[in-house]
Amino acid sequence: MPYFTLDASSLQHWLTDHADLAFRLGGDPSDWTIREVSDGNLNTVFLVDGPVGSLCCKQALPHVRVAPEWPMPLERALYEARYIRATAEAVRPAAPELYFYDDEMFLLVMECLTPHEVLRTALIRDEVQPGFSTTIGQYVARSVHATSWISQPFEHGSKLLADFAGNTALTRITVDLILTDPFRPCSRNPAPEAALLPDVEALHTDKPLHRAVGSLQDRFLTARQALLHGDLHTGSIMQHKDDVRVIDGEFATMGPIGFDCGLYLGNLALHACAAPNKRGLIEAEITAFWNSFTTELRTLLKTGGGDVWALSDEAQREELLENFLIGILQDTTGFCGLEMIRRTIGFAQVADYTLCTTPESRTEARRKALTIGRRLILEAANVATLENLLALMLLA
Ligand code: ADP
Ligand code: MG
Ligand code: MG
Ligand code: MG
Repeated sequence: MPYFTLDASSLQHWLTDHADLAFRLGGDPSDWTIREVSDGNLNTVFLVDGPVGSLCCKQALPHVRVAPEWPMPLERALYEARYIRATAEAVRPAAPELYFYDDEMFLLVMECLTPHEVLRTALIRDEVQPGFSTTIGQYVARSVHATSWISQPFEHGSKLLADFAGNTALTRITVDLILTDPFRPCSRNPAPEAALLPDVEALHTDKPLHRAVGSLQDRFLTARQALLHGDLHTGSIMQHKDDVRVIDGEFATMGPIGFDCGLYLGNLALHACAAPNKRGLIEAEITAFWNSFTTELRTLLKTGGGDVWALSDEAQREELLENFLIGILQDTTGFCGLEMIRRTIGFAQVADYTLCTTPESRTEARRKALTIGRRLILEAANVATLENLLALMLLA
């Protein structure tokens, strides 16, 4: 079927023509309820409920959903399907199951997470079950193990490089929106409130900072360590009680492992800037993430499988792994700083700042995120322990 943009009624017809999916819903099409829940920047998402089961249907639009004048290739849906397939077995059950991908409609049909809620929303409402970051740490470690040169023969990595090399439109978004635009005057950056203008202008002319950002641009584009999720913020995670799932892998690309870690921790750290009373929770979540990530990765990478470190015995692998983890922590620190800055003054800002009840406290929170973000980028190369990172975030 040639591509067209689905609405609730045409999706009902499309599902009727796919017997195995209709079977999962049960009953007759007239028994199904379809509601649109799109809340991301890019795509349309429908949840379909039937008498027996439910489905989540995500379709790419030929443009950015929240900016229709900004064209965007439909193929991002293909990369999301490939990402789910490349990682599903390793990360199960921490991602929704993909039931079907339609490569003409650029449509993913997957497990409907219900009654799950987006983590960012739950954090803002203060409705999270603490410890959720343990699952995210395991998730990142397991996806690294499934896709890195240390654990897999190089042919596997070469195939992943080829499979994701074409995802350039979304990588362009990352390069522009995270790694470049916040540090220069740019029409895509929303105008900041007047009180924050001097802080923003200072970032535009901060030469030492621009040099450090340059190193992170280089890391992002040239360090092909493992398959990244590429957009691992608190809006790409859904949770209900202790069931925590990662969604929205359309930005997938081979890249530095610390990029996924840094985006996640950056969103937690800026939540603590917006809600200073929750610093204890956030410190505990960042610690839980890093401990579970490193513990899981140490276990998974203890034994070989890849061509990297193939000559090393167990003792030497341990030593190499500890250095590898310090490198990841330093990348994490830098990308965390970038994420805090771009979510505060860049194109795609976050709702966490709505927790600030006065304009003054909001400006104060945003200034704090900018200050911490800048410090993280400048100090990344000196970080050797989680305590160093927490201290830079003023959380230790
Ligand atoms: P986008 O790429 O546009 O950001 P997302 O994949 O983040 O799209 O999905 C947008 C929203 O749809 C999510 O924030 C969530 O509310 C809902 N959603 C996405 N996937 C699922 C799912 N598998 N089950 C239930 N709801 C989902
Ligand atoms: Mg999203
Ligand atoms: Mg819900
Ligand atoms: Mg997305």
